[in-house]
Amino acid sequence: MPLTPRPRPRLSRLAVRRTLRRRRTAALLASAVSVCLVAAAAPAEPLGVGDRLYPYLGNPGYDVASYDLSLTYPGSNDKPLQAVTTIDAWTTADLERLNLDFGYGTVRSVEVDGRPAGFTRAGEDLVVTPEHPLAERSWTRITVRHTSDPVYGDDQQGGWVRTSDGLAMANQADAAHLVFPCNDHPSDKAMFTFRITAPNDYTAVANGLRAGADRVGRTTTWTYRTQHPMATELAQVSIGRSAVVHREGPHGLPLRDVVPASDRKALEPWLAKTPDQIAWMESKVGRYPFETYGVLMAQAATGFELETQTLSLFEKDLFTEPAYPKWYVESVMVHELSHQWFGDSVTPRSWSDVWLNEGHATWYEALYADETAHRPMEERMKAAYGASDRWREAGGPPALPKPPVPGQKISIFRPNIYDGAALVLYALRQEIGAPAFERLERIWVQEHRDATATTSDFERLAAAVSGRDLRGFFQAWLYGEKTPPMPGHPDWKPLPRTQDDGPRVRR
Ligand SMILES: [Zn+2]
Repeated sequence: MPLTPRPRPRLSRLAVRRTLRRRRTAALLASAVSVCLVAAAAPAEPLGVGDRLYPYLGNPGYDVASYDLSLTYPGSNDKPLQAVTTIDAWTTADLERLNLDFGYGTVRSVEVDGRPAGFTRAGEDLVVTPEHPLAERSWTRITVRHTSDPVYGDDQQGGWVRTSDGLAMANQADAAHLVFPCNDHPSDKAMFTFRITAPNDYTAVANGLRAGADRVGRTTTWTYRTQHPMATELAQVSIGRSAVVHREGPHGLPLRDVVPASDRKALEPWLAKTPDQIAWMESKVGRYPFETYGVLMAQAATGFELETQTLSLFEKDLFTEPAYPKWYVESVMVHELSHQWFGDSVTPRSWSDVWLNEGHATWYEALYADETAHRPMEERMKAAYGASDRWREAGGPPALPKPPVPGQKISIFRPNIYDGAALVLYALRQEIGAPAFERLERIWVQEHRDATATTSDFERLAAAVSGRDLRGFFQAWLYGEKTPPMPGHPDWKPLPRTQDDGPRVRR
């Protein structure tokens, strides 16, 4: 069933092996009854989990528990990486074949549970036919040998980002499957292991903690593991001539930043800000949710920042371009940091819930600027109120965003889900009062930690925490075509268009 919450199976290697053995027995039994169905099978076609904005993302019939990605970087951005992706998944249906999202690169071979499997492409899906059908409620291991190609056509948005000294990743919302085969939807979070082999003069860093760096001859293989489940859109692999700068955050939290080695000294004053920013966020919503954090400053013209889990991606120029005021740069750092709670630890169940990411990140970005740089939240929200009707018209109401423009996959990231959604949170705080709002925020990230959540979940929790019936409030603020009156500010009015009509870059 698409987008249905279900407890994720906890995996140990031993458990995988045991369940794999059980699965094989079950598959043998199942194959006897499934054989007659094979002839009736429909042609391979791209499938999805029913996301309103990205219908072909994700796939039905299984739930990924872990990804193991091996990537070999040739030392040049002009050639594809050689890759092996191994997926351990739990089947939720009998499967004669299964789809993975994989839209770019060459597939050399596919194995299912150690046996060669058939495969074909359908749209941006890789359709895999195992030797024997897979039984419902069993473990399966899919191994795909493929290339991962950073050389895209001109219209490519997301996936590998080519930097001046290597590569980074920006997969949000629907580009992880340009890099590796996966179930590319945030409703299916999984554990990740990365093994990146690169020439010795490169440094590779990925999400999570380092588990090894093994030098053999002219290459080094860097291994990283996540300690928390992660959505595919939040995967990060940085390969470059980088310095990895270590320091300690609150409660001994290990921090590591990744910067071009030649800029390390110049960037240090920015990097040094992270521990205090984490402490500030913890004072608002509670403990940092992951095993590590850090800032990845990439020498690339992406036009955006991105909250890749435990290692946020920034354009280096954000920190070196003197035109950006200091308070602004810091508030963007806090924006990405707050996503670690809102978006990464608590992940949207579908892309229509993305306002829960961006609304909250914009909220803490603005609150930080208010508290540390005398940039009043109220002024920003009043300006947002003035533009909100126009944002809703252009992008849809915050919780019912319009689909991406054809050919512009990331165009769902419009002002309606940034300041337009922070405005909803401001209205909520006005409506239920600051103490109830602050309690709601803390309980929200605690209750849905390491999981996925929906807009309805947020509405229900807000009602429970405040002891109020908020159905009318949320219906109007989240789904209305027009912005409702602001509680406590009856004088706020929609304003005519101005030159500066809200954020133009995604972050
Ligand atoms: Zn954001």
